[in-house]
Amino acid sequence: MRKPIIVGNWKMNKTIAEATAFIKEVDPVCHDGATYGVGTSFLALQDAIKNAKNLIIAAENCHFEDSGAFTGEVSVPMLEEIGVKYCIIGHSERRQMFGDSDETVNKKAKRLIKAGITPIVCIGETEAQYDAKETESVIRSQLSGSLADLCPECVKGIVIAYEPIWAIGTGKSATKEDAQKCCHIVRDQIEKMYGKEAADAVRIQYGGSVKPENIVEYMACEDIDGALIGGASLKADSFKEIIEKTK
Ligand code: 13P
Repeated sequence: MRKPIIVGNWKMNKTIAEATAFIKEVDPVCHDGATYGVGTSFLALQDAIKNAKNLIIAAENCHFEDSGAFTGEVSVPMLEEIGVKYCIIGHSERRQMFGDSDETVNKKAKRLIKAGITPIVCIGETEAQYDAKETESVIRSQLSGSLADLCPECVKGIVIAYEPIWAIGTGKSATKEDAQKCCHIVRDQIEKMYGKEAADAVRIQYGGSVKPENIVEYMACEDIDGALIGGASLKADSFKEIIEKTK
């Protein structure tokens, strides 16, 4: 039985004070129906971890090297030191704007797993790839690169976020049928790479314009175990509504 996991990805939003206020308001309404969490800026992580009793706090990126001449980067040991337990990697914004690739995502995943931090590995096709009916091949190829050479036992613990890029921040969400179909492809690809046990255990999120109005229909899909939520995770009220609706 996979426990659902619903995570807000705040991206480059919220100061430490804003993050703290949100967590104080939302943390008490979390319940056992799912794992709930938020991804914060590096700066807000430490206070967020201190203030959250129920919410899991995720970093939004990491570097795969432990230290060195990588100006502006944050390493996994640095995240480990402050008690980070989840880390989003390979978000499409990072792939498009900051040069993240399947290869670097794979290195990050390996380093996080070694530290006992759960990677939330993001994949998803562009609008042009969707129009060209390349979604399935893009999903399979991103997964085979991003998840190469992991141990099947480790794969069971990771989270995959399928986020079609054309649905991110656009208000144009995938239909529940399309989202289910793609999350099923994700699970099938994991089975091909790491076997049925790993595929049955891995948690798969859908992301892209998820909001209180559509969360329930996504969560009802067989292969969708949660959501990665941008815009609708920024306001405490809408995130609380999502928590309430997934009891
Ligand atoms: P929106 O929910 O704003 O579409 O963002 C999705 C996303 O990028 C989460 O990582």
